Amino acid sequence: MEKLNPIELYRKLIHVPHIVRTIRASCLSGYWYCSEKARLQALGVESETSNEAATGTLIHKNITTARNPSPLEVELNEALKPFYTLGEDGEPIISRTYKNTKIQADGTFITHGADEWKVTNDRKTWIIEYKTKTSDYVTPVDLAPARFQNKLYCWLFAPIFSVIPFTLAGGQIIFLKRIGRNGNFEPIGQTEQMFWNEETELQLLADIERILWSWNNPEKQIPPMRYKCLRCPLTFKNKCWFQTGKIWSSET
Ligand code: SF4
Repeated sequence: MEKLNPIELYRKLIHVPHIVRTIRASCLSGYWYCSEKARLQALGVESETSNEAATGTLIHKNITTARNPSPLEVELNEALKPFYTLGEDGEPIISRTYKNTKIQADGTFITHGADEWKVTNDRKTWIIEYKTKTSDYVTPVDLAPARFQNKLYCWLFAPIFSVIPFTLAGGQIIFLKRIGRNGNFEPIGQTEQMFWNEETELQLLADIERILWSWNNPEKQIPPMRYKCLRCPLTFKNKCWFQTGKIWSSET
């Protein structure tokens, strides 16, 4: 029998590259805020970087450099390195192919990686996701995309954990309140923890199917709450099905 090292095994048996269309994990998660906005983003419409997003990025950077990784976390990062490939933007990405004949979907989901990994002494691994907010409380609008994104990260990394000596335990979302614009923050005190198991995966796959079906049938999408449209940038508003009554596509 052919002898393969773990990375060759991963590429050959689990990750069969078949890129038809690439969608970022964060873009899919946006469905839970507004399906149409996320659909437009999946088609390449970009939003401008806001001050809030820039402050959020600064906070993420401050947190992830606040402590040195533990020896097990260093070992995990080294074990993950060979599975990253270079994305179109030249940055390392993790990708996984997705195929669903029921809704005729065939493509690749990607992520630039988790905010942080936490590894316990029994080699159980948690994907940590930080979410920053201006308010000091969390609402369902914050929770739905964050929960989905955290599960999707687990799904993207899961095949790798079958060939490295760590266990993927699940994910954790930590909400922070932004203070000022210099990267300061306060923990909101609310976290979400999710175990990665068969049930979680089935739930995620059902959600992905629902999202892609909606994007393939834009006129059947569920409209978002009106207040979201008040804050929506014109780049989206001018192409939005709910605003214009026309279905925009990248070929339009
Ligand atoms: S205007 Fe409203 S419905 Fe249209 S993309 Fe923006 S948030 Fe969504």
